[in-house]
Amino acid sequence: MTERVVIVGGGIAGVRTADALRTGGFDGDITLVDGGVFPYDRPPLSKEFLAGTKDIKQIALQPSQWYDDHLVRLLNQTVVAALRPREGKVELADGTLLPADRVVLATGGNAARPPIPGGGSERVHVLRTAEDADRLRPQLVPGARLLIVGAGLIGAEVASTAVRLGCEVGLVDPLAAPLMAPLGSELATWLHDLHTWHGITTVQAAVESFTDRGDHIEARLAGRRGSRAYDAVVLGVGMVPHTGLAERAAIEVDRGILVDAGQVTSNPAVLAVGDPSRMRGAPRAEHWEAAQHDGARAAATILGAEAPAPTAPWFWTARHGRHVEAVGHMESAAETVVRGTFDDPSFAVFGLRDGYVVAAAAVDDSAAVRAARRMIDRRVPADAGRLSDPAVNLRALLRTAPQGRRDETTP
Ligand SMILES: Cc1cc2nc3c(=O)[nH]c(=O)nc-3n(C[C@H](O)[C@H](O)[C@H](O)COP(=O)(O)OP(=O)(O)OC[C@H]3O[C@@H](n4cnc5c(N)ncnc54)[C@H](O)[C@@H]3O)c2cc1C
Repeated sequence: MTERVVIVGGGIAGVRTADALRTGGFDGDITLVDGGVFPYDRPPLSKEFLAGTKDIKQIALQPSQWYDDHLVRLLNQTVVAALRPREGKVELADGTLLPADRVVLATGGNAARPPIPGGGSERVHVLRTAEDADRLRPQLVPGARLLIVGAGLIGAEVASTAVRLGCEVGLVDPLAAPLMAPLGSELATWLHDLHTWHGITTVQAAVESFTDRGDHIEARLAGRRGSRAYDAVVLGVGMVPHTGLAERAAIEVDRGILVDAGQVTSNPAVLAVGDPSRMRGAPRAEHWEAAQHDGARAAATILGAEAPAPTAPWFWTARHGRHVEAVGHMESAAETVVRGTFDDPSFAVFGLRDGYVVAAAAVDDSAAVRAARRMIDRRVPADAGRLSDPAVNLRALLRTAPQGRRDETTP
């Protein structure tokens, strides 16, 4: 029987696990250990928090009172040094041992720092924590020359924030249009072009090296002659999952901490959730909502309850005042149809295969993505012509849904 749960990591996955345990009726001890100042949300770090329009308190995942109200013992600025699952204990960096019947690893990861020569310069930034954002923000002044490496999610968002603050922004990526897999090539290209329309210089290339010249930094790009001077560089090239605790406890790790459908690792006393976990046979998710769902599933496992029904993967990103959402697996679509046009204030792209929606991505149209998600989750047969017609109500298309499939997004 599980009486004491220790959750390692106070990001969205860890906090959601604690919340879902209490909501599900768990009345044992919950200890949430986090290395940071207090649990805060990460998506605003490249958006409002970086722009300075929200402070750290405004991005807290829960108000401080929440932990008392839910009897969650929160240990901030505390690092877990080792798991001792055989002894039923977790060891903190100061040597304290916490008893734990089940441990949930919610340790997130670090921003990746590829071994680019000169990449260790103080002028080269990454963005994963509030401290990273605090260090970068003072560089984003009008006229500052900023190079962003990587135009996927975080790099593109930082570029958008920086150009709005008056920086002169260069955005370099070896891909012609990043995010093609989740968005499809047409939308990915449109979205990448949005940067140019907002005054950002986009370059398709890889960075070869940096040279810190004291009052500026030079970047040399592969296949280009010479180098260019910048005041600061931001690397937005992905993250490296924190798997060390699992590895040292002989838990199976392969590009993430391997888990089953209930988030249980190769050691039944240890679960893993969020960015560092990887469901066997699937890629790591690295998205905010996926981390939440992991937490809900881990809690269900600990409670011995039925896990929430799986739902199509979803994420959002924001840039240049546009809100983008995507659901499903666009890379598996055999055809795509556009609802509206790319010049409209809002529009959506649906990916279809064998008469079913398998993915959708939309700009400023959350309702279309919500509808698409229900179509995917319920396996509603879809008609490309009706989907692409903005006059057809998407909710009406859902009414042909076959019965009997649970859908956790349905209110
Ligand atoms: C700048 C930025 C912008 C993003 N924007 C979006 C977005 O727009 N849309 C989207 O879908 N996703 C976005 N994401 C991704 C999303 O935020 C992550 O997928 C999500 O935060 C993962 O949550 P997590 O709980 O798994 O990990 P984290 O949030 O990384 O939390 C892990 C926590 O574990 C703690 N920890 C690690 N090791 C230990 C230890 N040994 N002892 C104690 N504590 C430890 C860390 O201090 C950290 O607080 C963004 C991410 C970043 C960084």
